[in-house]
Amino acid sequence: MSRPIAVWWIKRDARLADNAPLTETARIGALAIPLFCFEPTLIAADDCSPMHIHAQWQAVQALRQKLRLRGVDLVIAHGNVVEKLEKLHSRIPFTHLFAHEEIGNAITFQRDRAVANWCQERGVIYREFPQSSVRRGGVNRDRLQVLWQTRIVQTAPLEIPLIEQSPAITQLARSTNFPRFDFPEQASHWQPVNETDAHRTLDDFLRRRGIWYRGGISSPNTADTAGSRLSVHLAWGTITTKQIWHATRTRIAELDPDDPRSARWKASLEAFLSRLHWRDHFTQRLESEPDLEFRSIHPAYRNIPYENDERLHLAWRTGHTGYPLVDAVMRCLQATGFVNFRMRAMVVSFACHVLHLDWRVIHPHLAKVFRDYDPGIHLNQLQMQAGVVGWNAIRVYNPSKQLADWDSQCRFVKRWLPQLKDVSPEKILHSEDLGLASYPSPIVEFATRARQMTDSLYAIRKTAEAKASTPAVYAKHGSRKKETKFRARIKRAKESKRTGNPAQGTLFD
Ligand SMILES: Cc1cc2nc3c(=O)[nH]c(=O)nc-3n(C[C@H](O)[C@H](O)[C@H](O)COP(=O)(O)OP(=O)(O)OC[C@H]3O[C@@H](n4cnc5c(N)ncnc54)[C@H](O)[C@@H]3O)c2cc1C
Repeated sequence: MSRPIAVWWIKRDARLADNAPLTETARIGALAIPLFCFEPTLIAADDCSPMHIHAQWQAVQALRQKLRLRGVDLVIAHGNVVEKLEKLHSRIPFTHLFAHEEIGNAITFQRDRAVANWCQERGVIYREFPQSSVRRGGVNRDRLQVLWQTRIVQTAPLEIPLIEQSPAITQLARSTNFPRFDFPEQASHWQPVNETDAHRTLDDFLRRRGIWYRGGISSPNTADTAGSRLSVHLAWGTITTKQIWHATRTRIAELDPDDPRSARWKASLEAFLSRLHWRDHFTQRLESEPDLEFRSIHPAYRNIPYENDERLHLAWRTGHTGYPLVDAVMRCLQATGFVNFRMRAMVVSFACHVLHLDWRVIHPHLAKVFRDYDPGIHLNQLQMQAGVVGWNAIRVYNPSKQLADWDSQCRFVKRWLPQLKDVSPEKILHSEDLGLASYPSPIVEFATRARQMTDSLYAIRKTAEAKASTPAVYAKHGSRKKETKFRARIKRAKESKRTGNPAQGTLFD
């Protein structure tokens, strides 16, 4: 009997280790056809940029080299994936198609359905495997913790299996080449994305840098090294949450209790693990409700009359708002594809609360300038920072306060705004308008505009419609860990109704 032939359809999972499709291929004794397809519809989407294509291009190139060292090769395609599968099938009639579940945007969702249908029509056995604790099709939130335990905590990462190919497959694969992309010159400064670098980054974090995680990830000057910098690898699948979780737990277990630095290490690594967990928490929301790509998770916040002034939008995108920290962050993102959580939250808060731009309007640009663009985290964070989730405290980040707190010497600001290099930090910190020909005056006045937007958001929160729908939205998507906090918030809200004092969150932080 001839051996089965399995296509491993590579998407956001260009790695050999902890790879279920590859392991399954070996388990059933199939010959493997690793396949990666550059898809024009994805490349043309408004949330895709050269930073992302470059990340995948790099990850797949490195994967190809690793495969070649094992005497096998991968097929590179460029075009509609169903058409490419049809063509491949006519040359090599494969029997199985294995892939990882992708929790992406609406385009990838439709594309995955089209592939499943094609497999059914052709009699090809199609199986998708999870690569996180996120449950396909949604989940009762009370069960999420169980999934985390069974899929991540109690299961060891998969070893690299033996990969076999027939000479005909290897020959076909070898004849396929990467399409030509003209990446910008600055691409050489973007964070590398490949499996080897993912493990190097993890190791460096766990052995050297991670001690500074707690306390180090808030400033844009230190987060580059204090943070794990694993986001690009998780986003493009060159490492998995499970691999990171197990390596971190092992490192914590190895800490020497007699070493005075151990307590700090432990606190930092525990804080890191809880952030890692958030990734799945947010991704599950997108899986359970894919429409949150297009509308806010809470129905009461879907018709906010944002101004969406294109002049303000352009100034924000290009770093010309006259608020030095906002502008520095936007320019840093454009050049490097990375800033830390706090700075991301601040530029979203500034865009939505102060410039009165809809989170859906700013979404494509931000997605494009994040090298680690991960729709599940991204779309949820945008909505949270815009204050349209309905149960979180509405938090307005004041760029002047953030500057004083996290870049008081203006090192970050001066790096990205060279026209301020000769201006003293005191002047940058304390002047509302720097009065320079080379740098714009503030494009809008912060406090009044922020107050207008937060008043509108709190007015929505007080409507009967919002109050009626919040418990159901929270039950479907809210974190169970925060339940006690949520109850406390409801209590504060009731108290504020009684006293007439608005129960506002951390305003103007
Ligand atoms: C508006 C906004 C958009 C964001 N978009 C993305 C995105 O597209 N892709 C992305 O990976 N992160 C996103 N984040 C979350 C966070 O800013 C980055 O994960 C983090 O800065 C990456 O650096 P790191 O790998 O050193 O993170 P670490 O702090 O070392 O965290 C480790 C990993 O945990 C996950 N993680 C960390 N923070 C969060 C969080 N708040 N929510 C969910 N998961 C988290 C990430 O996968 C991260 O790589 C966004 C945050 C905001 C405020």
